[in-house]
Amino acid sequence: MPNVFVDDARNFKEDNPFESMMARFDEAAKLLDLDPNIYRILRVPNREMTIYIPTMMDDGHYEVFVGYRVQHNFARGPAKGGIRYAPDVTLDEVRALAAWMTWKCAVVNIPFGGGKGGVICDPSKMSMGELERMTRRFTSELIDIIGPERDVPAPDMNTNEQVMAWIMDTYSMHARHTVNAVVTGKPVELGGSRGRREATGRGLLIVIDEACAKFGLKPADTRVVVQGSGNVGGIGAELLYNSGYKVTAISDVKGGIYNEKGLNVPETLAYLRQHRTFEGYGGGELVSNSDLLELECEVLMPAATENQITSANVDRIKCRILAEGANGPTTPPADKVLKEKGVFVIPDILANAGGVTVSYFEWVQDRMGFFWKEDVVNERLKDTMVASFHEVVKYSEKHDVNMRIAAYMLAIDRVAYETKMRGIYA
Ligand code: NAD
Repeated sequence: MPNVFVDDARNFKEDNPFESMMARFDEAAKLLDLDPNIYRILRVPNREMTIYIPTMMDDGHYEVFVGYRVQHNFARGPAKGGIRYAPDVTLDEVRALAAWMTWKCAVVNIPFGGGKGGVICDPSKMSMGELERMTRRFTSELIDIIGPERDVPAPDMNTNEQVMAWIMDTYSMHARHTVNAVVTGKPVELGGSRGRREATGRGLLIVIDEACAKFGLKPADTRVVVQGSGNVGGIGAELLYNSGYKVTAISDVKGGIYNEKGLNVPETLAYLRQHRTFEGYGGGELVSNSDLLELECEVLMPAATENQITSANVDRIKCRILAEGANGPTTPPADKVLKEKGVFVIPDILANAGGVTVSYFEWVQDRMGFFWKEDVVNERLKDTMVASFHEVVKYSEKHDVNMRIAAYMLAIDRVAYETKMRGIYA
């Protein structure tokens, strides 16, 4: 049998998220001694769609945006994953994000496959009307491949509850009835789940609590540095602050703010919301995003975007625990150095899985038409995150691999089993 695994010496591009994902996938598949037939199936997405989206701009001219939806795997259930609006979206990025969703859903053992979408656009330069028209046209093109049983989108970078409401409405208009289970991350009034907005940040708090307990760190003595102040970084930082952690730095795309004694997070974020910058805020000193990552701390939480900890800066990373709020913030070459430095990594496909876990609860509630109280959602989220954290720790100790490869192995093993049991329809 020829070696089906990709040659290690291939021309690896560190800044390509799909290659980063595949490097981990290959390493885990090799260690699992994965059946070569299953390997061939799992190493590629199931389906990819490119859509050209004509959109009337406010001045009457038409712009044609490019959007993608990648459905990576359906072995465990409908594809699940967010839609991102950003000027630098690429198909390889969306492919990687879709595959990460497959592994993430398998790590926390929820009955979904993986999918992801993205549109190349700059929402900061678009009006609400332009965003709505673009979103609705994109949705109408996706109608045959999304749906509660097929593929369930959710928010990601620069998309939010409003965008989800437009997607749900467009889909429902075509279905001729309200189909709220077609997306998650909706407003609560439209069938969203209580606790979904905070779920990714809350999931991070739960796994950080578990990791700190493992290393005997108390919240008051634990300095946390957060990159990003959106749904994941901002809410995560606020929940950590409320739990007594010392959040010493936080940023947005333009830069960050640092106070070695700890920031008053709600006040800092309120200032950012009002002024759209940390400049002029007296509660700390300004830092660049790259300097922020190199600050001394117990917990570093990148919660913005991919490729933040790379071979270029990993030598200067000074945390004890790396809790990945973003998807793909660390590259494979950086992983090697982190291991040598003894940094405990809570990998993205585990650390930020709180969002998709509560998305699963939202989908369940929509399909039942019966909605849970917030404390029920939070308790079930905690059960899932704590159990998954310890499962990955146990797996990593048993197989003597780092936390990331343990999470990939656990996930790939589950998806491979399901693929084998279902059989290949050919
Ligand atoms: P968001 O749009 O709400 O916030 C993104 C934050 O990152 C903002 O503060 C923005 O200013 C900052 N940012 C953007 N580009 C940056 C850059 N190049 N350098 C530094 N900062 C930058 O997005 P989000 O929903 O918080 O998502 C953040 C990350 O978390 C993404 O990788 C996303 O895929 C991942 N994630 C999100 C969820 C979720 O439920 N929203 C769940 C799991 C993973």
